[in-house]
Amino acid sequence: MKLTDVGEFGLIDRLSGILPPPPEDVLVSIGDDAAVWRWGSKWAVATTDTMVENVHFRRHFGTWYDLGWKSMAVNLSDIAATGAIADYALVTIGLPTDVEVESVGEIYHGMADISRQFATAIVGGDTVSSPLGIIVSVTVLGQAQDANEEALPRLLRRSGARPGDRVCVTGHLGSSAAGLETLLRGIDTPPTVVDPLRQAHLRPVPRMKEGQTLAALGVQAGMDISDGLAGDLQKICQQSGVGARIWVDSLPIHSATREVFPTRCTDFALYGGEDYELLFCAPEAIIEAVRTSFTAKGLAQISVIGEIIADPVGEVLLITPDGLETRAGSQSYDHFAGKQSK
Ligand code: ADP
Ligand code: MG
Repeated sequence: MKLTDVGEFGLIDRLSGILPPPPEDVLVSIGDDAAVWRWGSKWAVATTDTMVENVHFRRHFGTWYDLGWKSMAVNLSDIAATGAIADYALVTIGLPTDVEVESVGEIYHGMADISRQFATAIVGGDTVSSPLGIIVSVTVLGQAQDANEEALPRLLRRSGARPGDRVCVTGHLGSSAAGLETLLRGIDTPPTVVDPLRQAHLRPVPRMKEGQTLAALGVQAGMDISDGLAGDLQKICQQSGVGARIWVDSLPIHSATREVFPTRCTDFALYGGEDYELLFCAPEAIIEAVRTSFTAKGLAQISVIGEIIADPVGEVLLITPDGLETRAGSQSYDHFAGKQSK
């Protein structure tokens, strides 16, 4: 059987089936943004993500600094998606021999700057040759906030959504996909319009404080949007045993995305990956508390974009501006996309 027959997530399911069940002290295992386990008197939180040349990035699209920044940012985003604190990181780099020493230094300046911003210390890693392209793989270790041995930690999980919850997102959706498209098509002008989109793609900022605030306020369902809103919300629906309705005209799309891609901006918002915004679900009363707290702390804007429903389980329905209801497509990013995913 080929990888394209099962797809990335079918493969992960099979692999996790080979492994024994996790030990009792593991609270969250394979299938969420980060793993969580009891570690002494704390709850440890860990995640890992890898950037591969010509799969996740192209050398000439951004700077070396951007590459370092983003490799760390996508990992911090998975910690943010649980509402935890990111304490330590390990970094593995694979390099072809033609890469300049100064360029590797620039990658590290990017990593060091974003790590400093979120008080994460890079404490080790590995350096290897990689003849076919650059690979940057990061692991971040952290802990749940205010954890103690007796109580379960306050965390956002993909399995926490309940019918009646509102579906919310931070920031804008589709900006990263739009930025990537401007790079692929060489659209450079006007810079005031194109630059914010490229920035979103090349230098995402993890919603760390936002995630921690959500967890502290009692939000239980959330994840970061890395593979596209529709597919990622579907993961929440599947793991929570619920469905979701999205009001398409309420999607927060940046004015620059609308301006450069008037006919494609909605598709970018629904299916474009790498926004690294937080997607979360909670009852109305908690959303109000979130709004108040985010405003007081100067955090991201939030938009209510839909609601959680009892069924169809595992499905995301789109309500278009003319009131029509359709099923969201399954164009979510899949590394081994083949017949199963379209
Ligand atoms: P994210 O997009 O949030 O980084 P992924 O889609 O990469 O999450 O992974 C989904 C889940 O599958 C995560 O819980 C991750 O830890 C797990 N996972 C991915 N690849 C493997 C693997 N090779 N072995 C074990 N678990 C894996
Ligand atoms: Mg994630």
